[in-house]
Amino acid sequence: MNQSISCFDAPAQMSVEQGKQALLDEMQPITEHQFCSIEQLVGKVLAEDIISPVNVPAQTNSAMDGFAIHLPNRKPSLGNEISLPYPSEYKLVGQALAGHGFDAELAEGEAVMITTGAPLPSGANTVVMKEFVNVAEGFIKLQRPDAVALNDNIRQAGEDLAQGSLALSKGTRIFAQHQGLLASLGFSEVKVIRPLKVALFSTGDEVVARGQPLPKNSIYDTNRFTLQGLLNGLQCDITDLGIIQDDETSLVNTLSKAAENHDVVISSGGVSVGDADYIKSALAQVGEIGFWRLNIRPGRPFAFGRLGKDEQKALFFGLPGNPVAVMVTFLQLAQPALRKLAGESRWQLTPIPALAQETMRSRQGRTDFHRGIFSVDASGQLVVRTTGSQGSGILRSMVEANCLIEIPDEQQGIRAGEKVMIQPFSDLI
Ligand code: AMP
Ligand code: MG
Repeated sequence: MNQSISCFDAPAQMSVEQGKQALLDEMQPITEHQFCSIEQLVGKVLAEDIISPVNVPAQTNSAMDGFAIHLPNRKPSLGNEISLPYPSEYKLVGQALAGHGFDAELAEGEAVMITTGAPLPSGANTVVMKEFVNVAEGFIKLQRPDAVALNDNIRQAGEDLAQGSLALSKGTRIFAQHQGLLASLGFSEVKVIRPLKVALFSTGDEVVARGQPLPKNSIYDTNRFTLQGLLNGLQCDITDLGIIQDDETSLVNTLSKAAENHDVVISSGGVSVGDADYIKSALAQVGEIGFWRLNIRPGRPFAFGRLGKDEQKALFFGLPGNPVAVMVTFLQLAQPALRKLAGESRWQLTPIPALAQETMRSRQGRTDFHRGIFSVDASGQLVVRTTGSQGSGILRSMVEANCLIEIPDEQQGIRAGEKVMIQPFSDLI
């Protein structure tokens, strides 16, 4: 069933999976890179493996505020396999503070006061938390010598990351934690893939730009802005080409111009059956375009192609017009493709199972994406309900939702109490 299909001799009907795979197969990841300072890294994709130049932590150090001690060797008492407890008293010979340390070597039976992160003095072989120690007249006394063991509360040099080991792999999209790790390794800049250059426009004679009065029979342009938000999330360099009227010449001009200096051109509207012939002829003049009918709801019409010639080629994604359909098809089809194109090594989603709290309609042979609200019920079970009315123009349904509910092709619908897969927005947007 999951045979791959070419983007340009696609059958009239395609499943979402087939469509997604066909797009992924077309993507040749960008390899051009640039240097990016550590401050600007979030959202960028690493262009090379990062090998740790240092041990993390750099020195063996204390994980607690307390006392570093040189415990004596414990010898089993004669004829007894059980070790003796450690002595309870140690001579206090100094202190080791974070950023400073203690220069001398601890002899057996000696201790120093130590703070979290301070290098462990040589000779010390355990750290006891200060809460379990009494201090008096140059000595410390352990409250529970039987509870002390070698290497307690010690972070070994290189235990988080050893020098020379792989810290982050090529194709990783950087989030705060990666940014912090790179900083902890001493990097001030790293090589990243250059951002995707994406041109964006809306189509439709009824579509009006923001900031203008709304004439009769018109609607404000929504899609350019949801798409900008989604593309910003992928750190794309966006060129906003505005609204293109339903007119062959303007469309041809816009597409051929956009193809010259962009990796990708994205449009919304104008790909449904009613419009397809006119758009088809326009697109045929500027490139190679496949029109798809996907077994997806919301969505269904979708166009994909290559615009322009040779060096100036750009990929084209023609999304449907309805605002929810735009978001769903972008997230399910365009986003994985763009992530692969941008050099990212991971573009798969990780859907999770939840129990449906209500009956959800779908049709066999079609993947339905309902807008859902997941939560955890009183018994700790992950449950999900829809946002109510699921019309493909109702953007409010996306606003109220925190996930998409995926009802696959083979299922006719979901009954209340059945398991269903959800895609949390945190994984999607
Ligand atoms: P179309 O695919 O062009 O026939 O559009 C399908 C529906 O989506 C129509 O109701 C359009 O008015 C609406 N639509 C198309 N483009 C936009 C847009 N940019 N913003 C909001 N609605 C749109
Ligand atoms: Mg239209």
